[in-house]
Amino acid sequence: MEFAILSDAFDKMESTRKRLELTQFLVELFEKTPNEVISKIVYLLQGKIRPDFEGIELGVAEKLAIRAISKSSGIPIKKINEIYQREGDLGHAASIILEQKTQTTFMVEDITVERVYETLLKIANLEGMRSQDMKMKYISSLLNDASPIEGKFILKILLGTLRLGVAENTVMDALAITFTKNKENRKFLQHAYNVSSDLGKVAEKISIEGIRGIKEFEIILFNPIRPMLADRIKSEEEAVIKFGKEFAAEYKLDGERVQIHIEGDKIVLFSRSLENISSYYPDIIEKIPKVIQAENVILEAEAVAINENTGEFLPFQELMHRRRKYKIEKAVTQYPITINFFDILFCNGNSCLEMNYKERRKKLEKIVKENEFAKHIPMIIVKNENDITEFLENSINEGSEGLMLKMLDKPYQAGSRGSHWLKLKREYQNELGDSLDLVVIGGYFGKGRRTGNYGTLLLATYDEDEDTFTSICKVGTGFTDESLDQLYQILNSKVTIKKNPRIDTEMEADVWFEPELVIEVVASEITISPIHKAAKNKIRKDTGLALRFPKFTGKIRIEKTVENASTNEEIITLYQGQKKVAHNKSLM
Ligand code: ATP
Repeated sequence: MEFAILSDAFDKMESTRKRLELTQFLVELFEKTPNEVISKIVYLLQGKIRPDFEGIELGVAEKLAIRAISKSSGIPIKKINEIYQREGDLGHAASIILEQKTQTTFMVEDITVERVYETLLKIANLEGMRSQDMKMKYISSLLNDASPIEGKFILKILLGTLRLGVAENTVMDALAITFTKNKENRKFLQHAYNVSSDLGKVAEKISIEGIRGIKEFEIILFNPIRPMLADRIKSEEEAVIKFGKEFAAEYKLDGERVQIHIEGDKIVLFSRSLENISSYYPDIIEKIPKVIQAENVILEAEAVAINENTGEFLPFQELMHRRRKYKIEKAVTQYPITINFFDILFCNGNSCLEMNYKERRKKLEKIVKENEFAKHIPMIIVKNENDITEFLENSINEGSEGLMLKMLDKPYQAGSRGSHWLKLKREYQNELGDSLDLVVIGGYFGKGRRTGNYGTLLLATYDEDEDTFTSICKVGTGFTDESLDQLYQILNSKVTIKKNPRIDTEMEADVWFEPELVIEVVASEITISPIHKAAKNKIRKDTGLALRFPKFTGKIRIEKTVENASTNEEIITLYQGQKKVAHNKSLM
């Protein structure tokens, strides 16, 4: 398939943010796409070459790309830098340069999607000493044969700056329309995506086998399943109102969610955001297969740091020390953990998702043999508010965050924040009622003791519709010297010269960061705001929402991607809930 078809489609898609228009452009593109190429197209249009969980990154730096443009165009690097500065986007700059290419090539090879894709894969897999030179060779050979618009998009993909704003949902809508003529069939695609986390594979399946193939789509061992999430509640009373007579209560441990895939000797661990985190937990890899009594299995557990002497649970932050490339063995002995199982999703070749909670828990207890390292998460069946309060207190006393409440007769809903699981944390019972996970987008240098460090950070929510990060507050409290140092180390590698186009704010900042880090804050209230962009125009025209008295809780949410941060929709729900409480109080 000619790459020109794809770059023309990208060009059209870049001109709009409207979901319906984007869907239409995608349908037109998919109609022209042969079955064997569709998975590649689905990855590329999301700026990827493989599904996220494979962790394959292109890792091409701007400097290298500039050298490659210079090599293929014959234009000096200095001139290219000038055009880049003027245009602000290297892809766009490259298209201008390719227009005025001084070197003409004689034998121009056709650029196909397959060729671009294979070259990108090769670039991503290059390692070692000569890899930079090889990367440059590959890039310039593509640019030699590329038209200006093709060159523009090749570079954008390579640099990770392709932002077409097509959410996964939009891609699935378009696949349903193209291959079944019925958008309603999106729900079957959604299920296939939830159990495979691989939209390319889902696209290939529907293009080859049609809707029947999608309806029969099964869990694939070592492809992560998108996790089931919980709704928040503020009180025991709310739980009883929502769930009725009898339900399960489990400790909500303050650790890292781990999805464990095992078959024979092979074991792979995925994080909550489906990243392969096997290398951080060699102890799980070594010890868990020994306690599993099944041929193959997918389990969910919470890895929690513990005090080895007392067995006490320690806060999530302790696990940060495990996130390192080197000397992991030392971290394993210094920061020991236990692994606490709470669900089973697949066993001996069969999905367990359709089984209800009670059946799954029973199976889990049978398959996983407990020992010092591997535990079943503490669980009881509760019948009323008193039962919950008592168990909540026990859980908090033992160092957990609160409770997860789960309906007994419901299946596992992969990939959804449903109402069959509820979470009750102690801090929910005051003020705003919940902590928020916000994206760090900007920083302000500190004064006094904080000179030379960031004293205040600018934070944002995630806007799912626009795929942007909208500012919601500045936060300068809750930091200890230690946490500031830690944040400084992390944030320094994320400083950018230009504000990332996905950041939506009118605030100024001393430095801008790539939106890549999520931290947790609490606040006393959500107020309307003329300056912040979160949920702008949703409550009142020309007005957004902001947090009043925000405070950093000390938690850096390394396990969350920025797309997992609190969304504007969640902020609106909290804002409306807060208004209801105020209204009820005024009636009392
Ligand atoms: P939070 O900020 O509350 O951790 P979240 O957005 O990460 O929320 P939620 O579904 O809202 O995800 O909360 C569930 C999280 O709590 C899980 O991702 C998991 O890491 C953790 N957890 C701890 N104990 C349990 C349990 N017993 N069952 C399910 N999840 C648990």
